[in-house]
Amino acid sequence: MLSEFPRVSLAHLPTPLEYLPRLSEYLGGPAIYVKRDDCTGLATGGNKTRKLEFAMGEALQQGADTIISVGAVQSNHVRQTAAAACKLGMRCELLFERRVTNASDLYMNSGNVFLDRVFGANIREYDKGTDFDTEMQNVAEEVRSRGRKPYLIPGGASNAVGALGYVNCAVELLQQADERELDIGHIVHATGSAGTQAGLIVGLKAMGSGIPLLGIGVNVKRAEQEARVIKLAHETARYIGRPGIVNSTDVIANCDYVGDGYGVPTRSMNEAVLLLARLEGLLFDPVYSGKALAGMIDLLRNGFFDDADSIVFLHTGGAAALFAYADQLALD
Ligand SMILES: *Cc1c(COP(=O)(O)O)cnc(C)c1O
Repeated sequence: MLSEFPRVSLAHLPTPLEYLPRLSEYLGGPAIYVKRDDCTGLATGGNKTRKLEFAMGEALQQGADTIISVGAVQSNHVRQTAAAACKLGMRCELLFERRVTNASDLYMNSGNVFLDRVFGANIREYDKGTDFDTEMQNVAEEVRSRGRKPYLIPGGASNAVGALGYVNCAVELLQQADERELDIGHIVHATGSAGTQAGLIVGLKAMGSGIPLLGIGVNVKRAEQEARVIKLAHETARYIGRPGIVNSTDVIANCDYVGDGYGVPTRSMNEAVLLLARLEGLLFDPVYSGKALAGMIDLLRNGFFDDADSIVFLHTGGAAALFAYADQLALD
C-alpha cells in the first residue's frame, strides 16, 4: 500500500508489542498491552521517527540539504528531526515556539532541547502564537539565499506525508495481533498535531479493521482536535488513493485530561508516570504519553473498556522530556 512513496529507513521496526501483567492486574480490567513506539531507536525514540521516514524520504528525493521544522521548546518531534538530519548529512534549522509560559530553566535547557544542541541544530525562538507558516518561509528564503535547498516539515510532521508512518504502524500492529491471535478491543494513544491518529485510522480502515481508536488530547478542546484529525485523515486517505474510507464518526478525541494546558503537569499524569515506572519499569512523558495514560486509566476505572478483553496503548515516546520536568514532578 505504501511502497510507491519515497522512504528512508530510520526506525527499528516492527516495534515490540508487550503485555503489561502487573498493570493489568493492578487495574483489574482488560489485559493491557503496550505498542513500544518509544523504541523506534532514533535518539531515544518516539512516534515522529516513523513519520520522518516518509518526510525525509521526500526531502532526499527532492535533493534538499537543509531541513526546517518547528515545535515547542521540549518538542520530541524536533529532537527526532535534528537526529534524522544528522544521520542523512543534512543541516537542520529549528523554530521554537515558547508555548509554555513561565517555563523553568530546566524546561528551557534540559531534556529534548539539550539533545537538539547535541545534534548541532540551529535554533531560533519565537513567541507563542507566531505565524509559523510565514516564519518557516522566511527561514527557507534565508537558506536559499545561502545557496542551499530547504525542505519544510510542519509541526509534528503532521501532514499526509508524515501520517504515512502511522498508516504503516496500523498495518504492523494488525499483523502482530494476528500472529499472536490477540483480539484487540481498543487502541489508545496521545493525540496532538494529529498525524498519529489520522494515519492510524486510515491504516485501520484501509485494512478493513473496525478496532475503535481513541485519541487522548493534550492541547486543544475536543471539537478542535477532532476537526484537525478528520481533516488530516481525509488528506491522508486521498494521498494513498483511498478517498472516502474514513468517516468523521471514526475519529474520537477525548480532551478531558489536558488540565491547565499544553505541557502543564497534572496530578493524574504525575500518578500515571510513577505507576508505570514502578509497576512495569516503563518511562512515559509529562506532556503526551503520561496524560494519555492518565486518561486511559481513568476511563478503564469508569468501565469504558469493559467490553474489551484486551486494549493496546500506543507508547509514542517522549521520556527525554522527563528531565526537563525534574523539578515539577512529585516523586511520592
Ligand atoms: C508528538 C507526540 C505525540 C502526538 O502525536 P501527533 O501525531 O502529534 O498527534 C504523542 N506523544 C509524544 C511523545 C509525542 O512526541
